[in-house]
Amino acid sequence: MIRSLAAFSAALFFTTAPAMGQSAPFNVRYDDNIPTLEEFAGHDFRDEVTRPETAIAYIRALEEAAPDRVDVFSYATTWEGRELVYAVIGSPERMADLDRVRAGMNALANPDGMSAAERDRLIEEMPIVVWLSYGVHGDEISPTGAGLRTAYHLLAAEDDETVETIFDNALIIIDPTQNPDGRSRFVNSFESARGLEPSADRYAVEHDQPWPRGRYNHYLFDLNRDWFSLTQPETRGRVREMQVWWPQVVVDSHEMSGDSTYFFAPSAEPFNPNIEAHQRRTQELIGRNHVGYFDELGYHYFTREVYDAFYPGYGDMWPTLHGAVSMTYEQGSARGLSWRRPDGSILTYGDGVDRNFVTSLSTVEAAARNRVQLLGEYADFRASGGRQPNGNEAAVFDASVNSWNADRLARQLAYQGITVERLEGRQSLCGATFDDGAYVVRYDQPAGRLARTLLEPTTDLPSDFVDEQERRREAGLNAQLYDVTAWALPLMSNVEATQCRRAPGSAGVIVSADGLPDAQLVDMDAAWGFAIPWDDAGQAHLVAALAREGVQMRTTTVPFRIGNTTYPSGSVVVPRSDNGAELEFLITRHARESGAEVHGMESSWVDEGPNPGSGNFSPVFAPRIALLWGQGVGATETGATRYILERRYNLPVTIIRPASIGRADLDRFDVIIMPDQGFPGYNSMLGSARSALQGYVRDGGVLVGLGTATRWLADADNGFLPLQRERAAQSPRDAEGQSAGVTDGSVLTSEAERMIAEAVHGAMPDSSPGALVSVTANTDSWMSAGYENGAYALVTGSDIYAPVALDDATTALRFAGPEELLQGGYLWAEYAEQLAHKPFVVTRRMGRGHVVAFTQSPTTRAYLEGLDLLLLNAVILGPANSSRLR
Ligand SMILES: [Zn+2]
Repeated sequence: MIRSLAAFSAALFFTTAPAMGQSAPFNVRYDDNIPTLEEFAGHDFRDEVTRPETAIAYIRALEEAAPDRVDVFSYATTWEGRELVYAVIGSPERMADLDRVRAGMNALANPDGMSAAERDRLIEEMPIVVWLSYGVHGDEISPTGAGLRTAYHLLAAEDDETVETIFDNALIIIDPTQNPDGRSRFVNSFESARGLEPSADRYAVEHDQPWPRGRYNHYLFDLNRDWFSLTQPETRGRVREMQVWWPQVVVDSHEMSGDSTYFFAPSAEPFNPNIEAHQRRTQELIGRNHVGYFDELGYHYFTREVYDAFYPGYGDMWPTLHGAVSMTYEQGSARGLSWRRPDGSILTYGDGVDRNFVTSLSTVEAAARNRVQLLGEYADFRASGGRQPNGNEAAVFDASVNSWNADRLARQLAYQGITVERLEGRQSLCGATFDDGAYVVRYDQPAGRLARTLLEPTTDLPSDFVDEQERRREAGLNAQLYDVTAWALPLMSNVEATQCRRAPGSAGVIVSADGLPDAQLVDMDAAWGFAIPWDDAGQAHLVAALAREGVQMRTTTVPFRIGNTTYPSGSVVVPRSDNGAELEFLITRHARESGAEVHGMESSWVDEGPNPGSGNFSPVFAPRIALLWGQGVGATETGATRYILERRYNLPVTIIRPASIGRADLDRFDVIIMPDQGFPGYNSMLGSARSALQGYVRDGGVLVGLGTATRWLADADNGFLPLQRERAAQSPRDAEGQSAGVTDGSVLTSEAERMIAEAVHGAMPDSSPGALVSVTANTDSWMSAGYENGAYALVTGSDIYAPVALDDATTALRFAGPEELLQGGYLWAEYAEQLAHKPFVVTRRMGRGHVVAFTQSPTTRAYLEGLDLLLLNAVILGPANSSRLR
């Protein structure tokens, strides 16, 4: 039997002549040996928000029904145990020979030494690989329905010229649900709010998700920012698999506000300068293919606005920098089944499925019809590398200082397909000297453009774009930057990198993505015990592990010297006499797991500084950590903070809702962390908890505020810190003597005077989209242990705090002076001027405890790994430096 897809409304529109020779893919006959979603799950693609497990089961049912044309691969497991899969769909001939396809694509992607004849043969024989991914934000729901329907359509359509062309030329990869934990959270809140019929009211509970919403994954990461930082299993799985199939065209299908229409490429400005002209041309070619269908069907859309192509951590940008033509699509979301727009019209979930289905199929069609050209351009991109005329040829970074972060950075680059070499021994390269080896990344490699944008301190914004943003600011309009302007991984890892005008001649050993950094275990049979220098986060990783094993340790804020080795502030000693017989075994095992450095101590004698028995040493405990979590807290910030502590440093965290803080037994915790605020803020959520938190600190607790939490700590009514936020330095103050709609007359004699007269009085500094700046340490503060050489912070928003008097609090780290301040990205000039020398981290002794405030969050996206040790200082050294009675 032949039938049309049930419940299909848009076919009614199919009355006009097809544009550009196309015909909308709706009145196709389908093979009934391929199950519809309705047959499989009891609802049509358009009718219900499919659960993620149902979506995956359906993809597997399609594989069972068409085993010669579908192969489903499992690529990762989420934190909540859900499976992530993609389906590979192709002609039976290709599917029978997938190994050959993978080998061919790998050769095109990594063409070192390939002959022109071999290249031409591969372009002749290989399919174009089109990767369609859906629903990376879990509450962006219709893309998954469209992904399932696209798979069904490709497998079930009969005698369809477009589908035949696709199978002749393309291999299609469909990832139907990129964030099943988030989607599951959305579906649960939506289903639990449903009644007799779907409500289109925007304030109905079924559209109004509870904190933290379905957008994020389990640890509340925005997975569409994670592609180069690779913190989450979902991202790591996708990044690995993209290096198996090497796609030429990638779609990341999203939803936006239900009041919007549909967005597809070309992307908005700014474009990352590492994008090539042919990639932009193909975006337009594919966009124009969609227009044929959208015009025919009466679908509205926009292009070239809002969604830019600059930040490399997007799901469309990372593949672009590997050579694909990659695009974000955005459909207005019904955020449920039905949504009333401002004009009274109703947008349905099914409308979203239809539109995403059309662009999915149109993308594959355009790719298939242009297979030879796009494969050729892809091969040229990969063969030409990322070396730019008059640009840098390589980056070299130091492996001897902060080696734990340097090793992690090298592996993080290797994992995403960038070739990294390790040179051993003392090296003089590119005008710098590296005492104990260096890592080299050459930009002249297939992944060179990705390497450049991740390793150069600044990726330039186009100058006309910058001019326009400055003009908009002067006119009082918002800047048009969708995300941060800086992401240089060496700065974010606090690793010193040098850019080379000429790539180094000598070749080193290629770094593997797996494996651990080597532990350095020196004199482990020494009689008295062990010393653990506190000089990078790997050392803190080891101390945290030992503390959790119950190992007795002591730390000091005063550096000490034994022989030629100086142990900096924060260093830890481990006496054998305070510990059991298994001590050496525990230290060795955990040092190997941490990649840490441990020195044996023959005796407790030191040549300079305090002895371990001095009052300058205090015990280290396994910190019991509470973290504010829930309504009132910034979701991504609290999620990233928890992720860093739990998954990077194995420190369990108890999450507590702000509304419960006043009732909780806070003495059970050594540290309470307040991440950035979210709606409606800590003033609303913590009113009754203020005195409980004050008592907690006075009794010896450590209270840590990150980012905008510092506003609450600085609020005079709350009484934690004598800090004040600054207004913009250039902003005029409130005029005096104004009354009831009348003011003194004035004469404006120039444009400049006019601008001053129209400027906002008492304004806060213009918000920073995100730039990387230098911070310097006050080495007398325990909080800055391990940061004698400073670090780099990400500056976002408009919070600049005034200097704080020495007798009120301690500024542990401050922003660098104006000359050294800006290290990566773009920062408004007057913002940078005002930020210089101002506080970054402030501590205050209060009773037996401490308050620690970060004026900018160190845990954003968990990608500022160079600041991890600073968080660990607060969490491990904070309790050691408080004087709680135990
Ligand atoms: Zn999205």
